[in-house]
Amino acid sequence: MHLGLSEEQEAVRRLARDFVDREVTPHAVAWDRAEEVDRSLVKKLGEVGFLGLTIDEEYGGSGGDHLAYCLVTEELGRGDSSVRGIVSVSLGLVAKTIAAWGDEEQKRRWLPGLTSGAYLGCFGLTEPGTGSDAGNLTTRAVREGDEYVINGTKMFITNGTWADVVLLFARSTDDPGHKGVSAFLVPTDTPGLTRRALHGKLGLRGQATAELVLEDVRVPASALLGAEGKGFSVAMSALAKGRMSVAAGCVGIAQAALDAAVRYAGEREQFGRTIAHHQLVQELISDIAVDVDAARLLTWRVADLVDRGLPFAVESSKAKLFASEAAVRAANNALQVYGGYGYIDEYPAGKLLRDARVMTLYEGTSQIQKLVIGRALTGVSAF
Ligand code: FAD
Repeated sequence: MHLGLSEEQEAVRRLARDFVDREVTPHAVAWDRAEEVDRSLVKKLGEVGFLGLTIDEEYGGSGGDHLAYCLVTEELGRGDSSVRGIVSVSLGLVAKTIAAWGDEEQKRRWLPGLTSGAYLGCFGLTEPGTGSDAGNLTTRAVREGDEYVINGTKMFITNGTWADVVLLFARSTDDPGHKGVSAFLVPTDTPGLTRRALHGKLGLRGQATAELVLEDVRVPASALLGAEGKGFSVAMSALAKGRMSVAAGCVGIAQAALDAAVRYAGEREQFGRTIAHHQLVQELISDIAVDVDAARLLTWRVADLVDRGLPFAVESSKAKLFASEAAVRAANNALQVYGGYGYIDEYPAGKLLRDARVMTLYEGTSQIQKLVIGRALTGVSAF
C-alpha cells in the first residue's frame, strides 16, 4: 500500500498551494470582515481549472481524479473556508451531479459555464421546516403540460444570491417521504424566483448564503435531472461525495491551525523563552498534528474508493464526522496557543474556529453521520 501522491497529484497540490498563497490567504480576513469574497476570484478559479476537476474535458472540465480534487479542496480550506465552500458547492454538489445524472443536453447547457466560472451553481435541498429530515421536504413541483410549476422556500443556500442555476429538490408526485422527490435544474433568473441574503453568520462570512423563495416558477419538463421520483437519490449521491469534500476542507482548516500554532509558539516569549519550550504548549500542538494526519488519511481513503469505483458513502460519513470535529478541536487548540491574541481577528485562529464550527452542522450534522454509520453496522435505521 502506497500512501504517497503521484507526480500529477503533487503538481496539482503545488499549483493549489501557490494559488491559495497568492490569491486567497492574503485577502481572507478582509473578505470575512466585508462579508463577501471578491467575486472576480470565481473566474480565476475557473481559469486555473479548479472548478472543473474530475469533469470530462469535452464539457470544459480539467479532468483529474478525486484525490487531486481533495488536495485542491484542502488547500482552499487552508486559505479560506468561504472560498472552499463556493467551489465545493458549485463543482462538487452541482456540476459533478449534472455530470453523473444529466442527459447530453443538460451537460452541454450547464457544464462549460460551471467549469469555467462563467456560472456558479447552488444546491437547494434544505427548507425552513426540513433540515436533517430532508426527504420530507415540502417544495412542490406540479406538472402542467410540458412544464413544471414550482412553489416553496429553500433555506441556508450556499452561493444562493450569486448562483446562475439552482439544483433544486421538490416534491413532484404524491408519494410520501423521499419517494416523491425530484431534482430540477432551475436558472436563477426564472420569473417567480427571489433570493434574500442571510447575514450574521458565525463563520463562512465571505459566502453568499441565501433563502430562495419560489412562487409559481415555471420550468420546462427538460429541467428534470434524473428520472421523476429519483430526486432523493440524486441528492444523496451528491452529498456522499460532498461530505468527502467537506472533510478535505476541514483538513485544510486543521492544517492552517497547525501552521499558525507552530509559528506563533516559536515567536511568542513568556517566562524568558518562547512558548514552544513549554510542554503544555507542545501538547496543544501535537494534538492538532495528530488530528490533521488522521483526518487527512480518512479523507484520502474516501477519494481512493471513489477513484476505484468502490462503495464509499459510509466511509465518506466517517471522514466528514471525524474531520469536522477535528477541525473544531484543532482551531480551538490553536486559539489557546495564541492566548488572548487568538481572540481578535488580526490573528487567524478565531476565524478558523468560526469557519470550522459549521462543518459539524451542514451536509448532515455529526449526529446524522453517526446514524449513517450506525445503520451500516447494525442494519437498523435509527433516523
Ligand atoms: P435540524 O435538522 O433541525 O437539527 C437540529 C438538531 O437535531 C441537530 O443537532 C441535529 O443533529 C439533531 N437531529 C435531527 N434529527 C436527528 C435524529 N434523527 N437523531 C439525532 N439527532 C437529530 N442546505 C442546502 O440544501 N444547501 C446548501 O447549500 C446549504 N448550505 C448551508 C450553509 C450554512 C452556513 C448552513 C448553516 C447550512 C447550510 N445548509 C444548506 C443547511 C444544512 O445542511 C442544515 O442546516 C443541516 O442539514 C441541519 O438541518 P437544520 O439546520 O434544519 O437542523
